[in-house]
Amino acid sequence: MEVYGLVGNPVEHSVSPEMHEAAYRTLGMDARYVTFESDTDRLEAAIEGAAALGIAGLNVTIPFKESVLEFVDPDETASSIGAVNTVDLGSDTPRGYNTDAGGARRALEHHGVDLDGRGAVVLGAGGAARAIGFMLADAGCEIHIANRTTERATELAADVGARGYGLDAVGSLLESADILINATSVGMETDESPVPAAQLHGDLVVMDAVYTPLETRLLHDAAAAGAKTIDGAWMLLYQGVEAFEIWTGKTAPVEEMNEALRRALTGDSTSV
Ligand code: NAP
Repeated sequence: MEVYGLVGNPVEHSVSPEMHEAAYRTLGMDARYVTFESDTDRLEAAIEGAAALGIAGLNVTIPFKESVLEFVDPDETASSIGAVNTVDLGSDTPRGYNTDAGGARRALEHHGVDLDGRGAVVLGAGGAARAIGFMLADAGCEIHIANRTTERATELAADVGARGYGLDAVGSLLESADILINATSVGMETDESPVPAAQLHGDLVVMDAVYTPLETRLLHDAAAAGAKTIDGAWMLLYQGVEAFEIWTGKTAPVEEMNEALRRALTGDSTSV
């Protein structure tokens, strides 16, 4: 049996086991996906132990996405973002990838969103915003990054060749933008939006990285303004799809993974 997993702290609310095990069932693979809550000061031992035990691949989540870089050989994308969320343990040296970036790109592509030459406003300057910022730069977008702490926006903007702002600039930036992506945690488990509803308009594509709830206040307001909306489960799905494909070399059964993920996120226990 092949074993894959997620290392983080905490990990108990993860829906990745449901999503990945749906893929194993669909493809008839003898495999399991397990969550591991590692001590925060024993990450190196956790990675080495996983490799020694024959675990084939690990996803990495908070608080280890940056610190794990020290213990893996990162690919170019993960290295420039400065964070790893997927580790392939299938060779002598653990190899690190950042599939949050590809996940966001594939979520937009799935919805027919063309990125080259488009104006994008990214809210946030944390891990998700870094992955999304590098991906948008690579795809040829004109990027504006706005964050509560303006200095963090300016730093990330400098790294991706964009401009950084405080959140008070968002209203005027949106007037001429094509794409808005929320990569802050605002709206997670609350009915708050990082953008006043009046600043949204029908020519926007609005994607949220937040996936609890699936319809955030931001997406609700965006839909009401006539914008196209993409919920956070799409990015979550495609980061998992990309990790699955890195680990197994197989084409992921996207539809079945999406169904399982959405059942798990909406609390329908028949998904397990
Ligand atoms: P993070 O590194 O902790 O960054 C959090 C960001 O949110 C920072 O930019 C922070 O601004 C901002 N923020 C927090 N509270 C705020 C508030 N009250 N008002 C305005 N801004 C606020 O977190 P992350 O890992 O980037 O994750 C961000 C969100 O994306 C989370 O909800 C996470 O679940 C989600 N996410 C989703 C996926 C997916 O696949 N869908 C993948 C990764 C993350 P400051 O810099 O000013 O603190």
